Amino acid sequence: MSSPYTQAAPLPAGVSLLLAPNPSPMTLQGTNTYLVSGGDGCVVIDPGPAISAHQAAVAEAARMLGGARALLITHGHPDHVAGAAALRELTGAPIWAWSREGSPLADATLADGAVVSVGERRLRALHTPGHRYDHLCYLLEDAGAIFAGDLVAGAGTVVIAPPEGDLSDYLASLRRLLALSSGERRLVAPGHGPTRADTRELLEGYIAHREQRERQLIAALGDGARAWSVAELVARIYTDVAPELWPVAAYSTLAGLLKLERAGLAHREPANEPAMAPGAEESGQRAVSPAETAAERTPLALEGVVGRPDGIDARWRRA
Ligand SMILES: [Zn+2]
Repeated sequence: MSSPYTQAAPLPAGVSLLLAPNPSPMTLQGTNTYLVSGGDGCVVIDPGPAISAHQAAVAEAARMLGGARALLITHGHPDHVAGAAALRELTGAPIWAWSREGSPLADATLADGAVVSVGERRLRALHTPGHRYDHLCYLLEDAGAIFAGDLVAGAGTVVIAPPEGDLSDYLASLRRLLALSSGERRLVAPGHGPTRADTRELLEGYIAHREQRERQLIAALGDGARAWSVAELVARIYTDVAPELWPVAAYSTLAGLLKLERAGLAHREPANEPAMAPGAEESGQRAVSPAETAAERTPLALEGVVGRPDGIDARWRRA
């Protein structure tokens, strides 16, 4: 099967890719659903969003490969897992994921290092939290291919949305994959965007990018003379990114602040305490209510998906 991407490294033999029709700034061209064929059937990696035409296409492709043996989940975000129930219905294959907390539909859970066999082929589950606590990558051992979910994308960066996402975990997971990528024939097949053969450069680039954002965050916080809202920090850091994406960048900025907080380098001042209206002390006017200050809340892109994380409405100061 040919790749839907114009510039992509070729997939290993026996691996096919079906692109779900859910393009967006967050999902790039859409969610990649992979089928790994092993001679006596196949496994599916990420059923994708709940779009019946996509699950029907995946089920038909699996049938042509001898039937689906399992539906493997990289993590519980809806663009990867929401179609799992429908695909299980169509194929009869069980859903396997890191945890039922992360993917409530899972029929069984996969520990770090668990091996999924399909014919002669082996896929090793790698617990790689950071983008989300339940994130698994799958290493196809004979091909040296890493199905990377949302740990990395084929283009751009990925969002770290606390509390389910954690920047320290994320960096550790990137370094773990980098350590696994020292041999030849390494390939990254991400959940979004094209397959990449420049695995080390890709992973090193991601690590360098996060380190650069951390330096920018420390610089934006300044000397501690004043406290900043997350939205203010985003505007100071993400000058190289279109403002439409700042509500997405707010999550990763918060993830950076939480990492600095744990290291004792930043601290938060709650925003929900009633602030005095300008001139209130002199004129005896009432304080501004929390409902009024809520109108200045940091805009967020994913509230329906990941909620409004603790700390996003705080003001942050260099410690
Ligand atoms: Zn995700």
